Amino acid sequence: MSGDPRKKLAYNETFDCIQCGSCLPACPTYKTMGKETQSPRGRINLVKMAAEGKISLDKLKGPINLCLGCRACERVCPTNVKYGKILESAKEALYEQEMDMVSPVKRFEEDLFYKQIFPKRHMLNTASNILWFYQKSGLKTVAHLTGMNKLLPHSLETFEQATPKISSPSHRHHRPKRLFPEGKPLFKVGFFTGCVMDAVFDRINDLSMELLAACGCEVVAAEGQTCCGALHDHGGRTDLTQELAKRNIEVFEQESFDYIVNNAGGCGAMLGEYAHLFEDDEEWKQRAERFAKKSVDISVLLAQLPLPIKKEIHCRVTFQPSCHMTNVQKVIHEPLQLIRTIKGLDFHPLDDPDFCCGSAGVYNIVNYEESMKILDVKMADVKDKNPDLIVTTNPGCLLQMKAGIEREHLGDHVRAVHLVELLAEACGLN
Ligand code: SF4
Ligand code: SF4
Repeated sequence: MSGDPRKKLAYNETFDCIQCGSCLPACPTYKTMGKETQSPRGRINLVKMAAEGKISLDKLKGPINLCLGCRACERVCPTNVKYGKILESAKEALYEQEMDMVSPVKRFEEDLFYKQIFPKRHMLNTASNILWFYQKSGLKTVAHLTGMNKLLPHSLETFEQATPKISSPSHRHHRPKRLFPEGKPLFKVGFFTGCVMDAVFDRINDLSMELLAACGCEVVAAEGQTCCGALHDHGGRTDLTQELAKRNIEVFEQESFDYIVNNAGGCGAMLGEYAHLFEDDEEWKQRAERFAKKSVDISVLLAQLPLPIKKEIHCRVTFQPSCHMTNVQKVIHEPLQLIRTIKGLDFHPLDDPDFCCGSAGVYNIVNYEESMKILDVKMADVKDKNPDLIVTTNPGCLLQMKAGIEREHLGDHVRAVHLVELLAEACGLN
């Protein structure tokens, strides 16, 4: 690394903040930690002061690392402060500073996580196979009966319980990559499979493709696609995020798609913001803009298509939206519209649906205690609605809600599902 990392900070953007405080009630970390430095306004001030050299970059570390990146503050800000840009710039600056000082071992660990695991499909497949073996062989039962699972750190123990049943390696190997509708396709759709989504929730990906085909689309899970790069971007690894974005753009340019559809709120937000990664590269910026224009959440496309609903579902349901779908993609009404299409559902909205569930990528692993305090607020709202079903639109939220159900001992009568699973059930696909 070279140069002063503080130059990475989005200093000019900090002047858009007029310190009005309208964002404070919307911020989950301010609500649960009660400190100005854990609020959007406080973080913006710290970034400004660090850029001016009034404080060291180290002072940014705690507040920036404890920010969920949910961007609820952006949505309520009267002056449209680009908080996401300020946050990512701070992460990049902190990463550069840290990499100048860290040991080769730490650098190796970073590279292993960001370069060797998440972008590599075969590595994630191997992880899925290990998880499948752990669940299927009885090791999981033994671990629970003997209490060995309690030896795991709290964060891993919580999410080990919430992890869904993993499909067998042979099932995953033989999944179709292209589906055709009955009759002439209405649209040709490239399907973005995601990394965690495909490794842990492959059944939801399969159902997404089947639903789109049942609604009249030709659907292609384009070969060679990779992780969207959100985790890398949130970790300040702009160089790697650009590499992943380029790979995805190239892959989806191979065929002429009307839409590029994803089913994960966090991934969709990243895909839609690819052009921001190429401010200094006109050719890639234009390619990224063309890609982003076609990129939509599955609910946006399904809301325009004739859903072949075959049955009523009678239960009490609530909806936990993904922050990145609401605050970044601005997809708010379509999931609700789709839920309301299903006859028999008794829908009870949360009082504060826009309050983050505390998942936020790997926040719930890295900042477990803080994440659980935020989840407690969410679960109090959920329990008040007394649902049989919690519907979400993002794998991270889904795992977090499953963890919340376990934590509150609601597992005998409450389930968390992805919107696609609910729609597929109504359409008789599962
Ligand atoms: S709402 Fe916007 S302008 Fe007001 S304090 Fe928050 S970030 Fe600053
Ligand atoms: S992104 Fe979320 S957690 Fe971070 S400052 Fe904004 S509202 Fe608070």
